[in-house]
Amino acid sequence: MTPRELVPREGEIAVVGLARSGRSVALLLRKHGYNVYASDVVSSPDTGRVAEELRAQGVVVDVGRHDLERLARAALVVASPGVPPSARPLAFAREKGIPIASEVEVALTFLEGPRIIAVTGTNGKTTTTALIAHLLRGLDIEAVEAGNIGTPLAEIAAREQQPKWISLEMSSFQLHDTPSLKPAVGVLTNLSPDHLDRYSTVEEYYADKARLFANADAESLWVVNKDDKAVMRMVRDVGGHKYAYSLAKKAEASLDLHTGQLVVLGAPLLARQDLPLLGQHNVANALAASLAVMVADRSHQTQQARKGIAQALRTFRSLPHRLELVGEFGGVQWINDSKATNVSSTAVAIDGMERPTVLLLGGRHKGETYTSLADAVKRKVKRVIAYGEAATIIATDLRPVVDVVRLGSDFDEVIQAARAAASAGEAVLLSPACSSYDMFSNYEERGERFRALAAKEA
Ligand code: ADP
Repeated sequence: MTPRELVPREGEIAVVGLARSGRSVALLLRKHGYNVYASDVVSSPDTGRVAEELRAQGVVVDVGRHDLERLARAALVVASPGVPPSARPLAFAREKGIPIASEVEVALTFLEGPRIIAVTGTNGKTTTTALIAHLLRGLDIEAVEAGNIGTPLAEIAAREQQPKWISLEMSSFQLHDTPSLKPAVGVLTNLSPDHLDRYSTVEEYYADKARLFANADAESLWVVNKDDKAVMRMVRDVGGHKYAYSLAKKAEASLDLHTGQLVVLGAPLLARQDLPLLGQHNVANALAASLAVMVADRSHQTQQARKGIAQALRTFRSLPHRLELVGEFGGVQWINDSKATNVSSTAVAIDGMERPTVLLLGGRHKGETYTSLADAVKRKVKRVIAYGEAATIIATDLRPVVDVVRLGSDFDEVIQAARAAASAGEAVLLSPACSSYDMFSNYEERGERFRALAAKEA
């Protein structure tokens, strides 16, 4: 689709939400001469700064409100991923029959050169997206990571010089309004219940994930997780070539349990011990990323390319807030997994623990039960400290299997309780299984507070 088809020149485009992607798409559209109206209900120093920057470029901006009358005249509404579909301006646009597109959808119409590897799934998206870009750069190819990972695609689309490849992380919310996504390679890491605060059923959430495959044809290339039944069910009837990875079964990319090698497309690539990442889930992420990069282009499969990929895997470092070892204080390991914002990612983190663990669980409840953590908790966790809005539900769900201390929303108090509970040789793990929004602006702030408090009183 050309920009002309997506957005008629004569109309105004309304951008809803002024966080990173809203800002970037408004600037991109202005750069191409479109009339843009941008608004955000939040009136804060951040939105104020963005508003000033956009106004200087000729964008009409409202902060603290959306002008619905103006929105009613828009030719297109661009939705930021942080704005839920039920939010007033989006519900209003739907009622009025105004087309809605994601920031990614708009950015795609301005991108011609770069080839895209798109990554989605419930967990492991960011790590896999970052790995893919890092492996491509290991082949001396110009590649960037974009999308949900941080840099909006619209920001890449506005650059004068565009990269050869883009590793694009797509959340379910972004996929919802990106109908023309047709990646060179699409990766689906795994599927489990999440975001039940925004979706009314799991099926609805999975249906958005399935939009990755909406434009599949015989030439499409997909990389999928053979260890995940829901993934394999979803792709059963999808067109194109499917490449599978597995930690346990025979697949195009797998971990050989006898030799300890990551084996990709028929040959060993790297020894597990040379991959500097904690946890088996990260072996899965490395297999997915290596396979995606190798199938993306034949030239990425030569002996020399395999060496480049293996070397890049050796130099990849875990991202902050994802099973990040903050330090060891008084013989206690403090581990920051603040990015674990759903129950399945916390289950993976607990499984990866090698010491008796004091587990900090809590924050804003997202609708899943915590009982599915019971088995892992029984094996590894000596005490759960439940805090924040979800504390009561967590305590009810896990008290039958573990000692649970229920606290309120004072994070200092949570850390003090953790320190009192953990002895030398043990670990404190922040892997909250909840979002952070009841107590923090985002998961990064929660992880940084954890890091600072862990080191401060040590
Ligand atoms: P996402 O971007 O999908 O949230 P991340 O790479 O940021 O994924 O990882 C978030 C958390 O999910 C990690 O802290 C870890 O606990 C868990 N995780 C990462 N990779 C996987 C995986 N392949 N399978 C299950 N859980 C994972």
